[in-house]
Amino acid sequence: MKISIPVLEAVLRVIPQVRPQIYFKSSLTALSHAIEDQVLAGSESPLVIASFQRERFYRQEANRYRRIADRSDQVYVLAAPETDFTNTSGLYETIAFDPSDSLSQEWHLVVIAERYTSCLICQERKGHVQNPKSMDVQGVDQSRVFEGVWTFDRQFNYRAAEILMDRILAYRPELAAKIARAKSKYFVETGFQFSDVDPGPFVERLVTYLQAGQYKLLKTYRSITIQERKERLVNSITAAIRESLNLDDIFRVAVQELGQAMDACRCLFYRCQLNEPIAKIQYEFLAPDTLSLADHVWGLQDGPLFQFTAQKAEWIWIDDVQTNAMIAAQPSLKALVERWKIVRWLIVPVSYQGRLLGIVELHYCVGCNKTLLPEDLELVGAIAHQIGVALIQAEAYTHLDELNQQLEALERTRSNLIAITGHELRTPLSTIQVCLESLMDEPDMPLELRQVMLDTAFTDAERMRRLVQDFLLLSRLESGRVEWNPEAIPLNECIDLALSHIRSRQNCAHLPHITSHITQELPLVRVDGEWLVEMLAKLLDNACKFTEPKGQVCIEAISKGSQMLEVTISDTGRGIDPNRLETVFDRFYQEEGALRRTAGGTGLGLAICRQIINRLGGEIWAESEGRNLGSQFHFTLPVAEI
Ligand code: ADP
Repeated sequence: MKISIPVLEAVLRVIPQVRPQIYFKSSLTALSHAIEDQVLAGSESPLVIASFQRERFYRQEANRYRRIADRSDQVYVLAAPETDFTNTSGLYETIAFDPSDSLSQEWHLVVIAERYTSCLICQERKGHVQNPKSMDVQGVDQSRVFEGVWTFDRQFNYRAAEILMDRILAYRPELAAKIARAKSKYFVETGFQFSDVDPGPFVERLVTYLQAGQYKLLKTYRSITIQERKERLVNSITAAIRESLNLDDIFRVAVQELGQAMDACRCLFYRCQLNEPIAKIQYEFLAPDTLSLADHVWGLQDGPLFQFTAQKAEWIWIDDVQTNAMIAAQPSLKALVERWKIVRWLIVPVSYQGRLLGIVELHYCVGCNKTLLPEDLELVGAIAHQIGVALIQAEAYTHLDELNQQLEALERTRSNLIAITGHELRTPLSTIQVCLESLMDEPDMPLELRQVMLDTAFTDAERMRRLVQDFLLLSRLESGRVEWNPEAIPLNECIDLALSHIRSRQNCAHLPHITSHITQELPLVRVDGEWLVEMLAKLLDNACKFTEPKGQVCIEAISKGSQMLEVTISDTGRGIDPNRLETVFDRFYQEEGALRRTAGGTGLGLAICRQIINRLGGEIWAESEGRNLGSQFHFTLPVAEI
């Protein structure tokens, strides 16, 4: 069965002078409860007809209707069934109407007593969109809007009750006799005026409900304000993160905003990793009159609070440092808490994919009453997460930038090298070709000239071999594809090995006089021995190459502070132009130029030496008074710690 004319419309057809009003769902609830309470507070046995749109709305009020049924045997409850709401005659009559009936769009409560009548009869406004944000705990939308009439007018209320009773009869014809009894009992001229009724209970209940509604509204407003404050905080920190890749800016904004929003006395952020022993406090927000911890160093390894946070990747909130077991058990922590006047303490790890990156701390100090709620802790956790993301982003960007620069440098080097190496290789190759062609074309060439041709070709072939070898070595060093095995070794041993290399390669009669003044007292050096020997051999080779056999080459070493040794290889040879002292370390630099190689080197030796010494942790430089005044090559090496 389905009745399509709404009750409200039917009543207004008969009594058109009443003007309907707009009601929100919350006002209707308050009014209905006040009307029901008036029944419960009075001594009459009224006719009560209540129509709920759905069974679930009725369920919330079922208890109240059981109590109303104690007062009267003429109570009718209507609802569209959803589970087990059926037509029954129990404590009161229940009428299950068709869900498509227009009743399902209305809200009715009619009370007809001897002394008074009340009626609330409304129709839900069509086109109202349900707003999930205004749902209350029962999933009822408090912002639903109705249009209808709330009145104590006896004529209007009789009409409304009559129409509703007709609807009831349509569903439950067996109630005809009971309804007829009601009509004859209640629809009579009583002579009572509305002013004869004590409005007290009704008004009181109404005010209580309205107050409760107001309180709910206030609570909602407060929670929206808190939520909004949090969103603003997260947004401002996220904005700082997006706008800048500068970690300094990000951390400064984060501690400032977080400290202020949480009313903290101190908000700290420091970077640290799981196994680091200490951390320096780098960023701080400070409330007025609070001691500063900036640049202070926190010991991490023996700090149980830090260890707990770092290992478990969880925050710690200490609501009272006096009663905390971890602090009580650790005198150093107790002292720290006293010194920095901490009363409540929050420690939150900043991590990314399980990797600890830093810590955020909030301190509430002596004299401050502020405490943190679970939602505040959630918020700080969310901010800490944002800081972690910022850190990773900025790191990734820096790496990318560095990598780009390295790639650009490599690209430049590669093109330079191709040009230079091409030239350096072509020169000896042309010589070899000319010599071999002459030998082939002139079979009658004198024997001595033949020998000269062969020697020249051989020398240049050897030069090419060394060039390729040095070039490959330098490339390996520059690209970092080299293994280093540093160990504590005596410098003397390396020098002896380098000297024996030189002596085995060259005719000793052509070598200048070499002396080594390395005392036994010198500390061991921490280096990779093989690479050090390689480098010493190159420097000694140069010294011998550019010094007459009657000249001198001298090796000395002195301590330079407690950390380093300075080694000097000096010669009395041809010296270096003072404005070339840095250029000699460039690749392929040779004083005589590519076409006039008298000394037969590759021009890569010193570039290789600089690479090696840098990797060993030292520096290398050249000194010379000038032409024919000899040269000194100095380099430093790290001393091995004992
Ligand atoms: P090379 O294979 O030509 O020796 P290096 O890179 O070792 O290449 O040296 C570059 C240049 O530096 C040499 O060609 C030479 O002009 C100059 N040089 C290096 N060592 C000395 C030295 N002890 N005395 C004078 N000049 C030197």
